[in-house]
Amino acid sequence: MSLFVRPGLERISAYSAAPLPGVDLDLRDNINLWGAPPRAVAAVRAAAECRLQSYPAVDGGALVDELASRLGVRESEVVAGCGSDDLIDACFRAAASPGDRVAHSDPTFSMVPIFARLNGLEPVAVAPRADGSADVDALLATGARIIYLCSPNNPTGAPTPESEIRRLITYAPGVVLVDEAYAEFSGATDWRAEVPAMERVVVTRTFSKAWGLAGLRVGYGVGGKAIVAAVAKVRGPYKLGALGALAARTALREDGAWMQAAAADARSVRDRFTAELGGRRAVRALESRGNFVFLQVDERASAVAARFAALGIGVRAFDDLPVYGSALRIGVAPWESFRRVLDAAREIWP
Ligand code: PMP
Repeated sequence: MSLFVRPGLERISAYSAAPLPGVDLDLRDNINLWGAPPRAVAAVRAAAECRLQSYPAVDGGALVDELASRLGVRESEVVAGCGSDDLIDACFRAAASPGDRVAHSDPTFSMVPIFARLNGLEPVAVAPRADGSADVDALLATGARIIYLCSPNNPTGAPTPESEIRRLITYAPGVVLVDEAYAEFSGATDWRAEVPAMERVVVTRTFSKAWGLAGLRVGYGVGGKAIVAAVAKVRGPYKLGALGALAARTALREDGAWMQAAAADARSVRDRFTAELGGRRAVRALESRGNFVFLQVDERASAVAARFAALGIGVRAFDDLPVYGSALRIGVAPWESFRRVLDAAREIWP
């Protein structure tokens, strides 16, 4: 360990996503495999050179205005950044001081405990309820300064009912961060217009999943004016590149129907796969509300993932998840390509 590196940093794991040689259907990232939003793509192609040469808006500019007007909130209640990762990270720094705790359901989005530790905070893992939803009472009982809740959850796809999320907000001692990265696939009601008045809540969304713009790194948060200003301050300036802001704004204005159609198809592929996989003993699909399926498997997940990889399919393996043990998460794709996953699953689990 280098003397020049922060002590203890070596104990915090880093996110890794190594390329998988030989895989031509990579389903590890839950991106939109229906493509990128067509009008947004056209806008990026046509972008003037001055967009590249100049700094973008400090804070997301016209994209934030567009989001605010669509959501029926004020511009000061929306904060944009370099993916929703950036907002989660900034929110942790903005709402808590080093040494404070961040409670979260476990398993959840793998970056959450990592962002907590990188910001000098202590992650507190809480088991979910039997149906996979967040255990609100257990989260509240931690007394943590920040409660992070992902609905539908990654990697299980389990939603937490809106009434439970509202109860959490009512009784939470500090900030509640609700991560809605997969909301477009869930069918849950959109409550974001109400969020600013709740003051202690930040809801994050992303353009990386349903909106098909993961490569441009655009995410945003909605919340009360004070917490949003604090998140923007610690996030720092110019985090949202000009082309990302342009693409996301164009997508909102002109590609809404495209996104809705792709999300609807993703839901139907997910449900068809789960139904056709059927009740095999060695693999059990949980009911997912995301654009991915979550399979509990009897064998070691990484060994099963290697068999999928040998068939050209990349899936995410979790060898030792709390509650679920060995499991796979597989992002969905149009049925023409995804049917291969069903064929592979039938070969692996005859
Ligand atoms: N939240 C959840 C639940 C996620 O699964 C992801 C990405 N996998 C993110 C946030 C971050 O997404 P992005 O930074 O691309 O917006």
